Amino acid sequence: MVRGHTVDFSGLLAGGRRTIEVVDETPIEGFEGIRFERPADVQLELRYAEGWLEARGTVVAHAIGDCDVCLEPVAFDVHAEVDERFDPHAGREADPFGEGNVIVGGRIDVADLAQQVVLSALPMGVRCAEHSNEKG
Ligand SMILES: [Zn+2]
Repeated sequence: MVRGHTVDFSGLLAGGRRTIEVVDETPIEGFEGIRFERPADVQLELRYAEGWLEARGTVVAHAIGDCDVCLEPVAFDVHAEVDERFDPHAGREADPFGEGNVIVGGRIDVADLAQQVVLSALPMGVRCAEHSNEKG
């Protein structure tokens, strides 16, 4: 996968800019039967405050899963809120699985961040319209 979705935030640390607006479309990898056939819409605002890089915004992913009852494919959007802060000087090199692992060398990996927040916002089960009111 091409990792082109990184944003240089060094201008925030240097004080030259107050915020950076990020509007991107990033691919999301499937997870446990949920598929993403087109990129997610990412809108973020980055700011630097009191030693932390803050990322706030939304990620809207366009998911397809199979109904748990009839196995019909169901398309649905996953709306994930982003409200995270990172140590801007941390990095994947130092701690590959730590919270700062979307920060690499003064850049934030927007695709990685979007992937993580979308996976954490996925529903527990998928139901088509016909079966959405039935209890499993
Ligand atoms: Zn169904």
